[in-house]
Amino acid sequence: MATTETLVGKTTQEITEAVTQALEGAPAFRGRQVAQALYKRHARDVEQMTDLPRDLRARLAESVRLAPCTIRQRSEAPDGTVKYLLDLPDGEVVESVFLPYGDRVSVCISSQVGCPMACSFCATGTEGLARNLTAGEIVDQVLLMQAEHPNQRISHVVLMGMGEPLLNYPNVLKAVHLLNEECGISMRHITVSTVGVVPNILKLAEEDLQLTLAVSLHAPSDALRSELVPLNEKYPIARLMEACRAYTDKTKRRITFEYVLLSGVNDTEKEAHELGRLLQKAPLVSVNTIPYNTTDVSAPYKRPTPEATRRFREIVSSYGVTITQRQERGHRIAAACGQLKRSALKPGSAMRPLPMAASSAPARARKPSAAGVPTAA
Ligand code: SAH
Repeated sequence: MATTETLVGKTTQEITEAVTQALEGAPAFRGRQVAQALYKRHARDVEQMTDLPRDLRARLAESVRLAPCTIRQRSEAPDGTVKYLLDLPDGEVVESVFLPYGDRVSVCISSQVGCPMACSFCATGTEGLARNLTAGEIVDQVLLMQAEHPNQRISHVVLMGMGEPLLNYPNVLKAVHLLNEECGISMRHITVSTVGVVPNILKLAEEDLQLTLAVSLHAPSDALRSELVPLNEKYPIARLMEACRAYTDKTKRRITFEYVLLSGVNDTEKEAHELGRLLQKAPLVSVNTIPYNTTDVSAPYKRPTPEATRRFREIVSSYGVTITQRQERGHRIAAACGQLKRSALKPGSAMRPLPMAASSAPARARKPSAAGVPTAA
């Protein structure tokens, strides 16, 4: 009887158990070979597992699914950034981005299908949550992209695609361990980005991992932050800062505060001073500004001017706070959270060609949400 058990997402030990069960009587080392092929050699098909006898390969193909993700659409920008839309076994779609930077190769991956957080400037936020990704679906985004780019070893993984990682805590945690322990990605090179789910920041602190935590702050005051990030009503800035302090105390790891610059909204001198004052006494923090990436969401936001950006950075750093600017690359080409999916999928229609510039993104395109989240007209 065929099973739909999926191997990617399991530890080597778990794969060994699944394989010895599927291939009754096969020795345990066959399971370890399969795990190696998946995690170390990035095999996508049993036929690539040439160290297995032909009959075992055939039986394996019949009885398990190796990996959950397949490519629906791939689009490459001139700078080498490659955007992927990936199909999942149940028909859901997520996006992932491959970002070669010369000295390092980074991938940006999703943790949920959609997102329930509804940040006002974010394309994914308009979609609502369809479901959490499994640990296998999270890890497989990396494996699939590595298989597609065999000569560029992925060194960094950021969970900054679709979804709120800390609302899918157990699967994200398992995925992080698999990426580190099975795929060999350094824990320090794995970044989990959260909008500020305070109880789970505290929980993550207790894991005491060397991963990198990014917190999407976007505003220095509760009034403004609540407008941009609705979760702020539940976990206001003071509580978020306490949690971040507990995190850095425990892990001794620096937290990066993400700050999307929205022209005239949160990029004025007033906010820069407030942000400087907020963070000046916090140990082990830095700010990463991200210029707003125009989306087709009917939000009234504009990109910051270079002058406002420069002034903002100057003021914040005058408080002794380290502030850096996100390299735009993928974001230029509709790769910001949720944009790729929105621009490529339209209700009831087949995939359409993907525009390579955010500014040429077609008007409102939305995939009907499996969760039945209401869609704005
Ligand atoms: N939910 C998590 C991770 C996904 S979003 C979080 O909020 O951190 C990753 C980052 O992209 C967040 O900082 C988010 O605020 C930012 N982002 C979303 N839409 C954007 C846009 N249109 N332009 C620039 N940055 C955006």
